[in-house]
Amino acid sequence: MRAHQSPTAAERRLYELWSEYHDLQAAESLLEWDQETYLPSGAHETRGEVLATVAALKHRCLVAPELGDVLAECAEQADEGSVLAAQVRAARREVDRAVKIPERLKREIAAARSAGLAAWQAARKASDFSLFAGPLATMIELRREEGAAVAVGGDPYDALLDRYEPGARGADLEPLFRRLVATLAPLVEAVAASGVTVDESIALGHFAGERQVELGRRVAAAAGYDFAAGRLDASTHPFCVRIHRRDVRMTYRFQEDDFRPCLFGILHECGHGLYEQGLPEAWHRTPVDDAVSLGVHESQSLLWENHVGRSRGFWRWLVPVFRETFPAAAVFDAEDLWPVLHTVKPSLIRVEADETTYNLHVAVRFELELALFHGELEVPDLPRAWNDRYERYLGIRPANDAEGVLQDVHWAQGSFGYFPTYTLGMLTAAQLAAAARRDLGDLDAAFAAGELRPLLGWLRRRLHGQGRLRPAGELIAGVTGRPLDSADFVAHLRRNAEAVYGVNPP
Ligand code: ZN
Repeated sequence: MRAHQSPTAAERRLYELWSEYHDLQAAESLLEWDQETYLPSGAHETRGEVLATVAALKHRCLVAPELGDVLAECAEQADEGSVLAAQVRAARREVDRAVKIPERLKREIAAARSAGLAAWQAARKASDFSLFAGPLATMIELRREEGAAVAVGGDPYDALLDRYEPGARGADLEPLFRRLVATLAPLVEAVAASGVTVDESIALGHFAGERQVELGRRVAAAAGYDFAAGRLDASTHPFCVRIHRRDVRMTYRFQEDDFRPCLFGILHECGHGLYEQGLPEAWHRTPVDDAVSLGVHESQSLLWENHVGRSRGFWRWLVPVFRETFPAAAVFDAEDLWPVLHTVKPSLIRVEADETTYNLHVAVRFELELALFHGELEVPDLPRAWNDRYERYLGIRPANDAEGVLQDVHWAQGSFGYFPTYTLGMLTAAQLAAAARRDLGDLDAAFAAGELRPLLGWLRRRLHGQGRLRPAGELIAGVTGRPLDSADFVAHLRRNAEAVYGVNPP
């Protein structure tokens, strides 16, 4: 990419206009963070009104004719591969969605979302999919229409996928998932047939909540999370949100009988936060000052959670700190704990799944939403199709709709195309971890010495500081030396399954 030249008048005006949009987004994020953490329970309705006003102002920024003119002028001035070309590409994605989706359709989608959420909650409570089938069919119809409006020809599903993973295509993901299922399903089956069970009791006991948070805070600081540019607060569901790059907030929850959800939750959100804190400073408040895609975002959280936090080296460093924090807990060393952190257990619920079975849960959802959008599956047939796939891929069958097709909120919200980004994140995390090991040498030894910063430095240089300057696929290929595939991820899972369960099926 060419070095930045002195900006033209149009380019300066683009950044001025975009900084207003950026700041409204920052205000919206702060209001949403507050809603999930400290908002008084009686204030939710009014907060909804405030958020609707902010959303309308954001929309006004994006559809302003001046922004359209300035973007057209910048596009003419931009050399291919230049920073300006990347800025125009990043801005156009947002502007196109705002301009091309008719107001009427947006209102209908918002209404279908509320109706869908209410119906989904009722259906889940009654464990009866038929209560949700109508609203779901309406939502699919509306999203199909939205996809067609944005994509201008092509597959409407791709336009939905593109919201989360710019440039991704259903037709490319299909073979990727097919291969993953063909590898992972036999691996899970072999683990089940091995007869080996892992005693997880050393991870259980009594762990005071505030001490768990203290430990998580210590680990996040060691990883390089800047608490002068971020916070850690409690919430029902852990998340991480960027207000702007100098204000990145994450949340936690804890369980007093098991230290794992809190610690790994904080490490996960910390990975998201480190990415946001590392976005390109020089391009603050411009269109490329943003994460490149959800898949890459998730790769950052999973890299810290699974490839750092579950490694032997990390625990060689953390065990003494852990003993200091919880003197009454079971005594274990890194070797004792390692299998406990790498169990493989087929389950019905995605959010409770381990690293190996997780992608089979995602594959079920991806295949089904693709079939729904392509008209190959009718909504009333969804529960049976869901259950059949669980039986085929994971060897277990949901007994009812609540523990089957009704477990996730995504489809009720109309978030089609979101699920595959979880798997893209897992594959990307493994490919990055392998590349970091090639570039930085023995990471385990560094982790054992409590040195987590060299990995962060590498991520900052190679990935975080790039923002949206390059598309996700190009960025990952540039950092790791090849386009994204499942090789490193599958090798990682096979190594673990062989070590814990003694299995390595063909
Ligand atoms: Zn995440």
